Amino acid sequence: MKNFLPFFIIALLVVSCKKEKPEELSRIEFTGISQDIRPGDNFFMHVNKIWYDSVQIADDQVGVGSYSFLNIPQRQKLQNILEEVSNQEHPLGSVEQKVGDFYASGMDTVRIDARGVEPIKPILEEIDQIKDRAGVVAFVTAQMESGNNSIIGLRVGPDIKNSSINILHIGQAGLGLPDRDYYFKTDSSTVGIQRAYKKYLASLLDLAGGENGAQQVEIVYDLEKQLAQSHKTRIERRNIQANYNKFSVADLAQRNPNLSWTKILSTLALEVDSINVQQPAYYEKLDQLLGSVSLEDWKTYLRAHTLEGYADFLGSPFEKASFEYSKILLGQSQQQPREQSMVQQVDRMLGFALGQLYVKRYFDQEDKERVSELVSNLQKAFEARMTQLDWMSDSTKAKAKEKLYAITKKVGYPDVWREYDVSIDRDKYFENVVALRKNAYQYRIKDLNKAPNKEEWATTPSTVTAYYRSSHNEIVFPAGILQFPYYDKESDDAVNYGGIGMVIGHELTHAFDDNGSQFDKDGNLNNWWTPQDLEKFKAKTQQLIERYDSFTILDSIQVKGALTIGENTADNGGIAIAYDAFKLTQQGQDTVRINGYTPDERFFMSIARIWRVKVRDEFMRNYVTTNSHSPALWRVNGPLMNFTPFYETFDLGAEDQNFRSEEERIRIW
Ligand SMILES: [Zn+2]
Repeated sequence: MKNFLPFFIIALLVVSCKKEKPEELSRIEFTGISQDIRPGDNFFMHVNKIWYDSVQIADDQVGVGSYSFLNIPQRQKLQNILEEVSNQEHPLGSVEQKVGDFYASGMDTVRIDARGVEPIKPILEEIDQIKDRAGVVAFVTAQMESGNNSIIGLRVGPDIKNSSINILHIGQAGLGLPDRDYYFKTDSSTVGIQRAYKKYLASLLDLAGGENGAQQVEIVYDLEKQLAQSHKTRIERRNIQANYNKFSVADLAQRNPNLSWTKILSTLALEVDSINVQQPAYYEKLDQLLGSVSLEDWKTYLRAHTLEGYADFLGSPFEKASFEYSKILLGQSQQQPREQSMVQQVDRMLGFALGQLYVKRYFDQEDKERVSELVSNLQKAFEARMTQLDWMSDSTKAKAKEKLYAITKKVGYPDVWREYDVSIDRDKYFENVVALRKNAYQYRIKDLNKAPNKEEWATTPSTVTAYYRSSHNEIVFPAGILQFPYYDKESDDAVNYGGIGMVIGHELTHAFDDNGSQFDKDGNLNNWWTPQDLEKFKAKTQQLIERYDSFTILDSIQVKGALTIGENTADNGGIAIAYDAFKLTQQGQDTVRINGYTPDERFFMSIARIWRVKVRDEFMRNYVTTNSHSPALWRVNGPLMNFTPFYETFDLGAEDQNFRSEEERIRIW
């Protein structure tokens, strides 16, 4: 549909620049396309069904795919690095020594098992010695410095109304199950998870030498359930204004007398006059429970949560207990090999040190420039789309474009590497973990009352992901995602624009989704919309929420449109922007087939392939409840349903399941 293209793209279409031997352009072939499933019925499966049916989820995995931790080859690369550096001598204090020795300390399961519960005993004794409720808060406060969060969710981050300064935020906390909803749902799968969770905590209490774990766990669970009642749902938490409640410390001290904020802050040496309480109802409930629940019950709660917080570092019986729970929650039937769980621990705790080694070995500097150029092309395409939006006034468009070009781009890895001022001992896994957690806490609070560090990255360079951060107005593409199937420098543009191009478009659109749209170009919560435009934007957003509410997965589970609206807006925008940018390339303008497929076909097939994934049903249930992304099937089929060039490329008609009339095709950006 030509009216979807900015005028200058149409002008370019008349110039046909045929490439010689286009087959040589691409080493990426699309094989395994299912002819049984029509593109218009289910494009995700049209492209992925043969792969989906042939791929096996290993017994120790929750799924298989390209994204994030499901990317097994990526984890193997990290494992290779870790095995290599841990077997060599390195100067004390070097990146290699820290990474290698931390990994080796975690691989030494003989020593870890021999020590068992012993390393955590001093902490459990501290709990035994708590004499009063003030002692409960004092223990919790001290543990926060060791990165063991239980009932207080403390964070340092930009003031959303003044992004040039970091303030203290506290958010709801205190639960063990993945979400408040798990405490209240009564379907058989959730009841099974509640049971497995209780069993898990009971095992931990028993393993630590307690008596009657099963009985004590009821106390813990009951307390959690009461806390969960005050928790906001994930959908409610999308309301940014509602999460912004600055209280003076004096006021807060009066509101929550049992928590005694003045004491907490002085113990932690945090000098602030005010705190942003993201969910005040939680802290009111917590304060009330600190007053009404018996001291013994609180001590039981702290024992269980402390054990839970350290369970991964106390040897096989603890890990086994943790796995038994995870089996029910996520569905894998076998425990992961130690090497793989250690890859994740190193990435979690020393991720930027491991990232340095990863980048050295696996990242091509030239890709940084290539991808940066791609980002610029996507920005231009997005600007053109903004220009021709029929529902937005010129004044809002001007502000939107200003914000679009103010976005900071980060590609590959940080310019300044985070350092870990920690000494790592090859023989002391538990102590290493505690030292790294303390270091992480200090790292987080060091910038309180200062300007946010704009050099900082929120994910490690090796992670297969990308993100937009509204307070920094920045988009970030770690080295981990700059590889097949997202990006391949030997591929044709169709594959790359449908891959990393779609991801870039997605992240750019986050600056303008239900959440990002409330922030200005400087990252402040500040309305830049005219009232009329904002009303139209909200109406369109509502349409998209309702559309995704109508999607189901695993036959009966409904996608939560209001939880996933930000991601769905980004998916819809991302595909459209990437397509427009692709049409500006030479290949985008011609029709020469590669391996039998036209450039446009390859573009759309690349989109379906980057999100291809196969996961266990248990994992999917948890995902739909807790994740702000739609299931992969709908990340592909949902946006394409709204995108007319897709209809034209695959010749969709009213007989196709995912066909929507032009009026029903939702377009925001
Ligand atoms: Zn996203």
